Amino acid sequence: MNTVRASAIGIFGGTFDPVHFGHLRAVLEAREKLQLDEFRLVPAGRPPHRALPVASAADRLAMLRLAVTGQPGMVVDDREIQRAGNSYMVDTLADIRQESGDVPLLLLVGQDAANSLDTWHDWKRIFKLAHLVVMRRPESRLRWTGELEECVKNRLTESPERLKEETAGFVLTLEVTQLAISSTGIRDILFAGQSPGYLLPDSIIDYIRENRLYFAGGAGKG
Ligand code: ATP
Ligand code: MG
Repeated sequence: MNTVRASAIGIFGGTFDPVHFGHLRAVLEAREKLQLDEFRLVPAGRPPHRALPVASAADRLAMLRLAVTGQPGMVVDDREIQRAGNSYMVDTLADIRQESGDVPLLLLVGQDAANSLDTWHDWKRIFKLAHLVVMRRPESRLRWTGELEECVKNRLTESPERLKEETAGFVLTLEVTQLAISSTGIRDILFAGQSPGYLLPDSIIDYIRENRLYFAGGAGKG
């Protein structure tokens, strides 16, 4: 079908431990460049690919909610946290597809996440459910090889409009302002007793301090 659709939903998953300006700036730019009416931030409950998050699901969720306060069209989607067991993006996309019907879904990922997409659960099905938008991230290159390269090669497009004409299946790479900020770096700064100022919103820094998250003497340090 080649009719231009009115709406499209952007979806951005992550551990968000904690969410920071690298995430938020990338999402804002992607949203504007792709003209998305709705954008969902999806915190992972139990990420299958990595160590358990340091902050609790409730705290990561609360910090994300602070991040989107006053931002129209920005939604925190907590379904992976509510769901028992591992968080699989493919399940999340299937859910959202079922709820949203025939609307283009755009899964946004950072470049590092895109490079290892073929390690994600049932990854090929992702292209049946959504488009993939890869946002360029500092110190990271596209390294698609083997089956992933084969799969992506024929799906590449440079036109954001194409993503609105179909509901799923295209791959677009998008340049976003490169901010060399990571949650790991922020946690390390906090564990060292230093200030993470200007790396993430002040409201979230206040939340971290009030709740003693990422505190060297705290429970989260392990
Ligand atoms: P950690 O250091 O704990 O791995 P992180 O900062 O990489 O955290 P994640 O929650 O792992 O954040 O990442 C969620 C998504 O955000 C991924 O798709 C990742 O590629 C992307 N991302 C992370 N940091 C940035 C950044 N500075 N700019 C753009 N995208 C980013
Ligand atoms: Mg990461």
